[in-house]
Amino acid sequence: MLHIAFIGLGSNLDDPCRQLHRAFAALGQLPDTSMLAQSSLYRSAPLGYADQPDFVNAVAKIATALAPRALLQALLEIEHMHGRERTFLNAPRTLDLDILLYDEVRLDEHGLTIPHPQMHRRAFVLRPLLEISPDANIPALGEARNALLECLDQSLERLADVA
Ligand code: AMP
Repeated sequence: MLHIAFIGLGSNLDDPCRQLHRAFAALGQLPDTSMLAQSSLYRSAPLGYADQPDFVNAVAKIATALAPRALLQALLEIEHMHGRERTFLNAPRTLDLDILLYDEVRLDEHGLTIPHPQMHRRAFVLRPLLEISPDANIPALGEARNALLECLDQSLERLADVA
Protein backbone atom coordinates (compact mmCIF):
# COMPACT_ATOMS: atom_id res chain seq x y z
CA MET A 1 0.00 0.00 0.00
CA LEU A 2 1.30 3.41 -0.96
CA HIS A 3 1.40 6.34 1.43
CA ILE A 4 1.84 10.03 0.68
CA ALA A 5 4.65 11.71 2.59
CA PHE A 6 6.14 15.20 2.52
CA ILE A 7 9.85 15.52 3.18
CA GLY A 8 11.57 18.75 4.24
CA LEU A 9 15.06 19.32 2.85
CA GLY A 10 17.62 21.82 4.12
CA SER A 11 21.32 22.55 3.63
CA ASN A 12 23.72 25.36 4.35
CA LEU A 13 27.12 23.85 3.57
CA ASP A 14 29.06 22.60 0.53
CA ASP A 15 26.94 24.11 -2.27
CA PRO A 16 23.46 23.81 -0.74
CA CYS A 17 21.57 23.97 -4.06
CA ARG A 18 23.58 21.03 -5.38
CA GLN A 19 23.00 19.14 -2.11
CA LEU A 20 19.25 19.57 -2.50
CA HIS A 21 19.20 18.50 -6.15
CA ARG A 22 21.15 15.37 -5.22
CA ALA A 23 18.80 14.75 -2.31
CA PHE A 24 15.71 15.02 -4.56
CA ALA A 25 17.29 12.41 -6.82
CA ALA A 26 18.12 10.15 -3.88
CA LEU A 27 14.55 10.38 -2.55
CA GLY A 28 13.16 9.32 -5.92
CA GLN A 29 15.46 6.29 -5.91
CA LEU A 30 14.42 4.94 -2.51
CA PRO A 31 12.95 1.45 -2.65
CA ASP A 32 9.19 1.27 -3.25
CA THR A 33 9.09 5.05 -3.53
CA SER A 34 8.38 7.52 -6.30
CA MET A 35 8.77 11.27 -6.47
CA LEU A 36 5.47 13.08 -7.00
CA ALA A 37 6.48 16.75 -6.70
CA GLN A 38 9.46 18.93 -5.88
CA SER A 39 9.12 22.51 -4.68
CA SER A 40 11.35 25.36 -5.74
CA LEU A 41 14.40 26.06 -3.64
CA TYR A 42 14.13 28.82 -1.02
CA ARG A 43 16.83 30.73 0.81
CA SER A 44 16.21 31.32 4.54
CA ALA A 45 18.13 32.99 7.35
CA PRO A 46 19.32 30.56 10.05
CA LEU A 47 17.08 30.16 13.10
CA GLY A 48 18.60 29.64 16.53
CA TYR A 49 22.36 29.72 16.00
CA ALA A 50 22.72 32.77 13.74
CA ASP A 51 26.48 32.81 13.03
CA GLN A 52 26.34 30.47 10.03
CA PRO A 53 25.48 30.66 6.32
CA ASP A 54 21.91 31.01 5.07
CA PHE A 55 20.02 27.80 4.44
CA VAL A 56 18.49 26.54 1.24
CA ASN A 57 15.24 24.66 1.82
CA ALA A 58 12.69 22.74 -0.21
CA VAL A 59 9.92 20.16 0.18
CA ALA A 60 9.34 16.92 -1.73
CA LYS A 61 6.11 14.96 -2.05
CA ILE A 62 6.63 11.21 -2.40
CA ALA A 63 4.52 8.09 -2.68
CA THR A 64 6.09 5.31 -0.65
CA ALA A 65 5.40 1.83 0.63
CA LEU A 66 7.97 2.36 3.39
CA ALA A 67 6.54 2.56 6.91
CA PRO A 68 7.42 5.72 8.88
CA ARG A 69 10.37 4.13 10.73
CA ALA A 70 11.82 2.63 7.57
CA LEU A 71 11.41 5.97 5.80
CA LEU A 72 13.19 7.79 8.63
CA GLN A 73 16.04 5.28 8.48
CA ALA A 74 16.31 5.78 4.73
CA LEU A 75 16.46 9.56 5.20
CA LEU A 76 19.23 9.23 7.79
CA GLU A 77 21.19 7.10 5.33
CA ILE A 78 20.84 9.73 2.61
CA GLU A 79 22.00 12.40 5.09
CA HIS A 80 24.96 10.22 5.96
CA MET A 81 25.89 9.78 2.30
CA HIS A 82 25.94 13.55 2.03
CA GLY A 83 28.57 13.75 4.75
CA ARG A 84 26.28 15.08 7.47
CA GLU A 85 28.00 15.39 10.84
CA ARG A 86 25.93 15.99 13.95
CA THR A 87 27.77 18.52 16.07
CA PHE A 88 25.33 20.65 18.05
CA LEU A 89 21.69 21.73 17.90
CA ASN A 90 20.95 24.00 14.91
CA ALA A 91 24.55 23.67 13.68
CA PRO A 92 25.43 24.09 9.99
CA ARG A 93 24.64 20.98 7.98
CA THR A 94 25.26 19.60 4.52
CA LEU A 95 21.83 18.00 4.47
CA ASP A 96 18.85 17.75 6.78
CA LEU A 97 15.87 15.59 5.85
CA ASP A 98 12.69 15.57 7.92
CA ILE A 99 9.44 13.67 7.59
CA LEU A 100 6.92 16.52 7.71
CA LEU A 101 3.69 14.65 6.99
CA TYR A 102 2.83 11.00 6.38
CA ASP A 103 -0.76 10.54 5.23
CA GLU A 104 -2.89 11.83 8.11
CA VAL A 105 -0.71 9.98 10.63
CA ARG A 106 -0.02 11.33 14.11
CA LEU A 107 2.88 9.64 15.82
CA ASP A 108 4.95 10.54 18.87
CA GLU A 109 7.55 7.90 19.57
CA HIS A 110 11.13 7.90 20.70
CA GLY A 111 13.08 9.57 17.89
CA LEU A 112 10.11 10.05 15.57
CA THR A 113 7.34 12.61 15.76
CA ILE A 114 4.87 13.10 12.89
CA PRO A 115 3.76 15.69 11.92
CA HIS A 116 7.23 17.19 12.41
CA PRO A 117 6.80 19.18 15.64
CA GLN A 118 8.32 22.43 14.34
CA MET A 119 6.89 22.51 10.84
CA HIS A 120 3.97 24.82 11.59
CA ARG A 121 6.35 27.48 12.93
CA ARG A 122 8.71 27.58 9.95
CA ALA A 123 8.08 29.62 6.84
CA PHE A 124 10.89 27.69 5.08
CA VAL A 125 8.80 24.53 5.46
CA LEU A 126 5.32 25.96 4.95
CA ARG A 127 5.93 27.99 1.79
CA PRO A 128 7.51 25.19 -0.24
CA LEU A 129 4.91 22.77 1.13
CA LEU A 130 2.08 25.06 0.02
CA GLU A 131 3.72 25.57 -3.38
CA ILE A 132 3.32 21.85 -4.18
CA SER A 133 0.26 21.18 -2.00
CA PRO A 134 -1.86 24.32 -1.59
CA ASP A 135 -4.48 22.52 0.52
CA ALA A 136 -2.01 20.78 2.83
CA ASN A 137 -3.41 19.99 6.25
CA ILE A 138 -1.34 19.43 9.37
CA PRO A 139 -3.11 16.78 11.49
CA ALA A 140 -4.36 18.24 14.79
CA LEU A 141 -3.23 21.74 13.77
CA GLY A 142 -5.22 22.55 10.65
CA GLU A 143 -4.46 24.15 7.34
CA ALA A 144 -0.82 24.86 6.53
CA ARG A 145 -1.83 28.13 4.86
CA ASN A 146 -3.15 29.42 8.19
CA ALA A 147 0.06 28.40 9.96
CA LEU A 148 2.06 30.38 7.39
CA LEU A 149 0.18 33.56 8.37
CA GLU A 150 1.89 33.33 11.77
CA CYS A 151 5.36 33.14 10.15
CA LEU A 152 5.29 36.12 7.81
CA ASP A 153 8.06 37.88 9.76
CA GLN A 154 10.58 35.17 8.76
CA SER A 155 12.76 36.11 5.81
CA LEU A 156 12.47 33.74 2.88
CA GLU A 157 13.43 34.16 -0.76
CA ARG A 158 12.35 31.85 -3.55
CA LEU A 159 15.36 31.12 -5.73
CA ALA A 160 15.21 31.24 -9.51
CA ASP A 161 14.84 27.81 -11.07
CA VAL A 162 18.15 26.18 -11.84
CA ALA A 163 18.43 23.33 -14.30
P1 AMP B 1 17.78 16.91 13.10
O1 AMP B 1 18.57 16.28 12.00
O2 AMP B 1 18.57 17.83 13.96
O3 AMP B 1 16.53 17.52 12.52
O4 AMP B 1 17.31 15.73 14.04
C1 AMP B 1 17.20 14.45 13.51
C2 AMP B 1 16.59 13.52 14.53
O5 AMP B 1 15.28 13.95 14.82
C3 AMP B 1 16.49 12.14 13.93
O6 AMP B 1 17.56 11.34 14.37
C4 AMP B 1 15.17 11.62 14.37
O7 AMP B 1 15.29 10.59 15.33
C5 AMP B 1 14.48 12.81 15.05
N1 AMP B 1 13.15 13.04 14.50
C6 AMP B 1 12.01 13.10 15.21
N2 AMP B 1 10.96 13.30 14.43
C7 AMP B 1 11.43 13.37 13.15
C8 AMP B 1 10.82 13.56 11.87
N3 AMP B 1 9.49 13.73 11.74
N4 AMP B 1 11.62 13.59 10.78
C9 AMP B 1 12.96 13.44 10.90
N5 AMP B 1 13.61 13.26 12.07
C10 AMP B 1 12.84 13.22 13.19
